[in-house]
This record gives sequence, C-alpha cells and structure tokens, in this order.
Amino acid sequence: MPDDEEPTPTQMLATCRTPDCPVQDQTFEVGMYPNASPPTWRAQCGQCGNPITDIEPAPTGQGQ
Ligand SMILES: [Zn+2]
Repeated sequence: MPDDEEPTPTQMLATCRTPDCPVQDQTFEVGMYPNASPPTWRAQCGQCGNPITDIEPAPTGQGQ
C-alpha cells in the first residue's frame, strides 16, 4: 500500500479536559491528519465544542 497517494490518518488519543464536559477526562482514539503548521494535531471536542488540548499518539500494535 503506497502511502504517498492516499494519506492514512494517524491514530491519536484525544482527551477533552474542559470542566463539566460530558466526556471530560475520557480518552478517545481518533484518526487524525497532521497539520502543515503548528499545532500539528488539532481536534475539537464533539460534546462541548472546545479545542482538545490533550492529544497524544496512540500506541501502535493493534490486534495484539
Ligand atoms: Zn469536551
């Protein structure tokens, strides 16, 4: 599978830290594309709509 033709999203772990958000401190694994300019990883919380400040790479090794 050539990855220069169709970019595959990188699996990231996103955690909303907004107080009183329904999903506060809950971590979700999402496929994300890196941005050309910083911040490289950007996401918006689907519950409260605030930018997610806590984004880290998901551990690899799915299916193990
Ligand atoms: Zn939220």
